Amino acid sequence: MVVVSIMPCTAKKYEAQRPENDERVRILEGKKAWSDDDEFYDVDYVLTTRELARMFREAGIQFAKLPLEEFDSPLGESTGAAVIFGATGGVMEAALRTAYEVVTGTTLTNIDFTAVRGMEGIKEAEVDMNGTKVKVAVAHTLKNARRLMEQIEKGESPYAFIEVMTCPGGCLGGGGQPIQPHGKSERRELSQSIERMQESRSGNRMRIPNWQSCTKNS
Ligand code: SF4
Repeated sequence: MVVVSIMPCTAKKYEAQRPENDERVRILEGKKAWSDDDEFYDVDYVLTTRELARMFREAGIQFAKLPLEEFDSPLGESTGAAVIFGATGGVMEAALRTAYEVVTGTTLTNIDFTAVRGMEGIKEAEVDMNGTKVKVAVAHTLKNARRLMEQIEKGESPYAFIEVMTCPGGCLGGGGQPIQPHGKSERRELSQSIERMQESRSGNRMRIPNWQSCTKNS
């Protein structure tokens, strides 16, 4: 089996080759049953979404002209929480859903923590965990992360949990993404599209707006 990851992030090419991702070390450590030339990584190849878009273009595939159909589902169901990971606030929202249920022992009726959504540089929210108020913050770009880190350094941070994404808008604005000539407005549109996908739980039937223009510029 060959594992290929399609990623919005150029850093994943390096991360896939980090020694801790070499299964050989974890599985065979101590047995000396491998040669020093062997490699056994979790992920064999990483392509960025921009590289994939170029491959689509070279193959003459035009998404706008294809009929809608369901994805293959070789690994079974995915969750709405997985869909929102790519946008700033998504990791926080997914973590809050799980934390709420673990801490309170009750199932959420409304799973949407909308206060951590949106494209502001720093978002704050207070979550009521069955009477216990928990403050959280979400930052994207290192400039905004620095502001939160300086608060922590001074001992003035009120937050129990902080999410930081390096790229503008989160992974949807990652360095491996198709070039987004209109920057902010495209990222906002992608973010809203991701929200709609997870809300409808039928993301596999939706087209992402501007995808075609993104691939044109890739
Ligand atoms: S936010 Fe940017 S650097 Fe971080 S994982 Fe996503 S694409 Fe990579």
